[in-house]
Amino acid sequence: MTALPTAEDLSRSAREAAARCGVDLDAVAGDHPVTSPVNGARLASVRWQGAADVQDAVTRAGQAFQAWRTVPAPVRGGLVRRFGELLREHKADLGTLVSLEVGKITSEARGEVQEMIDICEFAVGLSRQLYGKTISSERPGHRLMETWHPLGVVGVISAFNFPVAVWSWNTAIALVCGDPVVWKPSELAPLSALASAALLDRAITETGAPADLSQVVLGGADVGEALVDSPGVALLSATGSTRMGRAVGPRVAERFGRSLLELGGNNAAIVTPSADLDLTTRGVVFAAAGTAGQRCTTMRRVIAHVDVVDELTDRLAAAYRRLPIGSPTEEGTLVGPLVHDASFKAMQDALEAARQQGGEVVVGGERRLADEAPDAYYVEPAIVRMPGQTDIVRQETFAPILYVLPYRTLEEAIALNNDVPQGLSSSIFTSDQAEAERFLAADGSDCGIANVNIGTSGAEIGGAFGGEKQTGGGRESGSDAWRSYMRRATNTINYSGELPLAQGVKFTV
Ligand code: NAD
Repeated sequence: MTALPTAEDLSRSAREAAARCGVDLDAVAGDHPVTSPVNGARLASVRWQGAADVQDAVTRAGQAFQAWRTVPAPVRGGLVRRFGELLREHKADLGTLVSLEVGKITSEARGEVQEMIDICEFAVGLSRQLYGKTISSERPGHRLMETWHPLGVVGVISAFNFPVAVWSWNTAIALVCGDPVVWKPSELAPLSALASAALLDRAITETGAPADLSQVVLGGADVGEALVDSPGVALLSATGSTRMGRAVGPRVAERFGRSLLELGGNNAAIVTPSADLDLTTRGVVFAAAGTAGQRCTTMRRVIAHVDVVDELTDRLAAAYRRLPIGSPTEEGTLVGPLVHDASFKAMQDALEAARQQGGEVVVGGERRLADEAPDAYYVEPAIVRMPGQTDIVRQETFAPILYVLPYRTLEEAIALNNDVPQGLSSSIFTSDQAEAERFLAADGSDCGIANVNIGTSGAEIGGAFGGEKQTGGGRESGSDAWRSYMRRATNTINYSGELPLAQGVKFTV
């Protein structure tokens, strides 16, 4: 492990990467410090905005909507195509900003930008496939059809751990659907947000689209709340903790707005006696320790059959002891830092609670590099054997703690998988097809994502992404998630020259 980069190194790389994407950090400087979890030092400072700025942005976006909604969808796709090209050109720059602001290792940070590119490609294809249905009418000489129209301004609130990809999932789809976007990014990652938005602005200018289609408002929860309460926001798409969703959902509902909530997870893998333990070990370690346990889909529980639980735990512990932990910008690192001190404290509190609830910490949990970087929080990912699914296991602690629970019957394992408040991702490791099918069936996993022989994290953009229960029920990204960004009109067309009424009703005047 080489030394951590200096504050000057990090701030220079952030400034250069932002400039290449079109952001002059001097022009956006203000009172709010942006610190890097890599070494705890200040990267830059930015100006925060307020509720009035949100209202201005929503008003301008509403005006852009008037024009954009009449542009044919395949032409709207041209803007997203250009945006995707610019993202491809600046993949390394955006990846650098993501690494520096939220501590992702380089390959994961670039992978996040790759997701942005992928969703642009998906959205360009989609721009020619916003299909409605033609439906048989019960009346002669009539046709029934449904038409999908642009919905209006989309407000996006995003979390720190996918600081740019989540915005792009929403934005690429919203733009081809005919909707402008106003974005309130995580307060921890304003530079990545400004750089992403600058690339989209460039694509907007080059393709002659309305200037206010994309806007960013920087700030804290109060800025998010202003977006939530704005009647000009037709769809509020919010990604973050269940605590945030619980505040946001009812407020949007109160004004009869639409919300799309992508909230916390508490994701498990069931490991059956027939599982390939080599593959399982690799799958679990990536899903549980990757991104330092800070993905919504991070694996937080392994539910292993009593015949394999000891061997699996030994293999996992051995792999955990070999994990390279350190600066995310250094080649070879697999585990970067936690995002801030509160995450470290939450992890330590959870480990203590787990011990009190009968758990045994098998490996990890200790802080690393505290002397070199006292304001950065590197930790050894932890594995904790638990006697059962106690209170602490049922909570999402946003840090790398993997709880291991034993089971005897598959019914018991599925019940444990489902017996948490969250319902995002899940998987089963098995070589028995019947077990896999049982897990995927209606009375199997209750999560929005259910996988076989692969971990809980690392979804592709082609499928709809999201989960049930306290995860919020929203779906973003691929499949038919685009429907949330449009309004549906049902049309009845009468070409009969007569006026037969539905349900045989007679009403002759
Ligand atoms: P967070 O809830 O602290 O913040 C998320 C965003 O919500 C931030 O932009 C924040 O400013 C804003 N916010 C907070 N309170 C608000 C309020 N009352 N009104 C409006 N906006 C408000 O979450 P975080 O720490 O940034 O991210 C981690 C959490 O996000 C985890 O729980 C993780 O599981 C979840 N997450 C979920 C998904 C998903 O797709 N399901 C994806 C990524 C992260």
